Amino acid sequence: YISNTSVKGGIRERTLIAVKPDGVQRRLVGQIIQRFEMRGFQLVGLKMLQVSEELLLQHYTSLCKKPFYPSLLQYMTSGPVVAMVWEGHNVVRSSRMLVGDTNPAEAPPGTIRGDFSIHISRNVIHASDSVEGAQKEIALWFQSSELIEWECCDHGNLY
Ligand code: UDP
Repeated sequence: YISNTSVKGGIRERTLIAVKPDGVQRRLVGQIIQRFEMRGFQLVGLKMLQVSEELLLQHYTSLCKKPFYPSLLQYMTSGPVVAMVWEGHNVVRSSRMLVGDTNPAEAPPGTIRGDFSIHISRNVIHASDSVEGAQKEIALWFQSSELIEWECCDHGNLY
């Protein structure tokens, strides 16, 4: 048993999750949200948006020189994205495990990419890969007024 106070910082960890245009087109938004809810994570921000070239460049700065960047840009701006912020103990690392490997061929069944995708260029979902990365991405994608702090009534059963 871990008391609420000893994980106080930990349960406030946050990550950016985005259902990419293929996931929205394929009506996977509900199932993806369900997996994060089932695990016990808490939704603190949610919106649909059309990603701009500028946002994508800031989001994927480290990839902008890669040969696949032009097709990544085309893919990510091809339709609306559903962006979310999820909160909870170890949420960054656990989300990467829920999502699975970048290349769906390496993502085990049971993971979101392993269950719903085949090719690396259409891998359905984004999840931040570090706590620091998550903080930057959340600040990039969301205004602080769009993030809701709330107490979930069953915290005592999870922590
Ligand atoms: N990507 C791609 N081809 C590649 C590598 C990456 O199309 O060879 C895309 C893919 O959509 C991936 C995104 O670029 O999810 C970001 O790549 P990253 O290595 O950051 O993987 P992620 O953090 O999304 O697992």
